[in-house]
Amino acid sequence: MIKLEKFPNLLYLSSQTHFKSLVISEVMVPDQQIVDVCVVGGGPSGVITAITVAKQGYRVKLVDKKSRDNIGDKTCGDAIDRAAFQRLKDKVGLDFPSGLELSDNIHKMSIAVGDINTKISLDAPGFLVDRLEFGQRLLRVAEETGVEIIDSATVRELHFEKVDGKKYLDGVSYARDGKEYRIRAKFTIDASGAYAVIRRQLPEDFLMGGIKHKLNDQELWSSYREIIKLNDDLPDHAFANEIILKYDKDFPPPGYFWIFSKGNRSLNVGIGWLKTQELGRMKEFYLHEMEKYYPRESYTVIKQGGGQIPFRIPFDNLVFNGGALVGDAAAMVHPVTAEGHGPALDTAQILGNVLIKALKSERRDLETLWEYNTQIASHYGRKHADAEIMSRLITKIGISNLEFLIKKQIFREEEMNLIFSGGTLELTLWDKLKRVLKIVPRPKILIALGQTFSAIDRCKSIYKEYPSDPSIINQWREKRNKMLKMRY
Ligand SMILES: Cc1cc2nc3c(=O)[nH]c(=O)nc-3n(C[C@H](O)[C@H](O)[C@H](O)COP(=O)(O)OP(=O)(O)OC[C@H]3O[C@@H](n4cnc5c(N)ncnc54)[C@H](O)[C@@H]3O)c2cc1C
Repeated sequence: MIKLEKFPNLLYLSSQTHFKSLVISEVMVPDQQIVDVCVVGGGPSGVITAITVAKQGYRVKLVDKKSRDNIGDKTCGDAIDRAAFQRLKDKVGLDFPSGLELSDNIHKMSIAVGDINTKISLDAPGFLVDRLEFGQRLLRVAEETGVEIIDSATVRELHFEKVDGKKYLDGVSYARDGKEYRIRAKFTIDASGAYAVIRRQLPEDFLMGGIKHKLNDQELWSSYREIIKLNDDLPDHAFANEIILKYDKDFPPPGYFWIFSKGNRSLNVGIGWLKTQELGRMKEFYLHEMEKYYPRESYTVIKQGGGQIPFRIPFDNLVFNGGALVGDAAAMVHPVTAEGHGPALDTAQILGNVLIKALKSERRDLETLWEYNTQIASHYGRKHADAEIMSRLITKIGISNLEFLIKKQIFREEEMNLIFSGGTLELTLWDKLKRVLKIVPRPKILIALGQTFSAIDRCKSIYKEYPSDPSIINQWREKRNKMLKMRY
């Protein structure tokens, strides 16, 4: 007879009737560790999920393959939206970035075409952060909240169990210091970024509602980025408090070159485009573009590297029995601007709260977690589908027509703000007529714009119908895919 008092983990779980089977197999494999939630990945989405759940007293382990003092570092544009940070402040209690963590305050985002001065600027209050400093602060808060962090631990394998005939994800194995360890968890969360180590190993019967193992090249961006510091003899750069996305006929649309202010003397600069396009000459194009502003000898490269960005709408389903996807693993990146940091923080809070409810109800099934899908669909689902439509517009009309639209000031800045924030642009008949007259010489743009705005309208109403009943998700997906004219 086993004395549960000798196994505090088992005693804890045995008090929770729904998790009986975990207790039984725990006895058979004594080395394993048992928790409420196991989060794989210590980036923003993983840490915020972990903090949200641990705050309610649940046991959370967070596993990351990086060493403790390197978790949070990432090749990134480093920009983060103030509104997303405000939500983090309100809901998780984290202060705005300051000190070493804050590289710059951002006031506007500009979209430039062809020439850096042919641009339209949008209000975009935000921050340029030092990702490592910010990531390390998140980790400290996580530890203070009771999250156990396991660093230098690479997750490799998934484990499953059957309870009452239903299959559940039941934690992972990870390698650390040449040894293999196992965590068992009621919920296992894939927060491992674009590579998505859990998602890519899910069994076929878990791939419900459009979850897929790997993104195809049409859904992924490759990018190259440098952080540079100007030589002392040069004046401050001319991009104060601004982030610029620059489209150019040299870069395959919707790819762009970016130049983000990182304090008066430094810049975060990069380039990226879809993986379907020629990638071999990306750095060459980057250097060529940089030469227009600063010759190579006029600055020092502080950091450089490449990165992959999911460039598609979020998966229509992010949950399965015993787990969920969050952040980049859930493809939660804006398909025009590549903004993924704010969405990662937001979606993690939503997921954390859904997990808390599920833990309270002692249920681990997909149906119980479905609320996470409905909340995401009504916000990032719809917003990013709109962005996908805009992204296709850019590809369809091409760079010279985009330049024409900006030069002719077809959209005012406040209207662009509305479009990018996911709002509805309502134009009077007179407003429409004035713009139509400006575009008449280029009928191709006129047609494409008409199609784009009617697709955005349809998109809004389709996302309002996102089903609360998982059994009809495929019917909804068919309708949405028909509208997007693409199979997701
Ligand atoms: C070049 C580039 C520029 C970008 N610019 C911006 C920008 O300016 N603004 C913006 O908002 N977004 C930007 N993004 C997107 C943003 O970086 C991501 O959306 C955001 O970091 C996603 O957070 P995450 O927590 O989901 O994933 P990540 O930050 O990628 O974190 C994933 C974590 O999982 C860990 N991990 C991975 N595999 C395993 C494993 N097998 N075992 C254990 N741990 C594992 C990793 O070590 C990492 O710590 C950019 C991305 C790139 C690549």
